[in-house]
Amino acid sequence: MITIRCAKCKTKLFRYLKIGKGQVRHLWPSRIQEDNSIHDGNMIKCPCGNEIGKDEQKYINLKRSAFTHTGRKFG
Ligand SMILES: [Zn+2]
Repeated sequence: MITIRCAKCKTKLFRYLKIGKGQVRHLWPSRIQEDNSIHDGNMIKCPCGNEIGKDEQKYINLKRSAFTHTGRKFG
């Protein structure tokens, strides 16, 4: 489980089950355990206003520079 935080204000935005190696670029909705983000249309934002990513229906496409993540990956 990894924790995804806003790069600007460090608010905890998602708890996410990351499977496999590599960068965190997409969030698959079925693996999101906790979602504190703001869904503004198809934009995903932090409560501080920082744009975190875009909802592409099947997954959330994250903006690389907008977030940080910590925690252990699986697989
Ligand atoms: Zn923020």
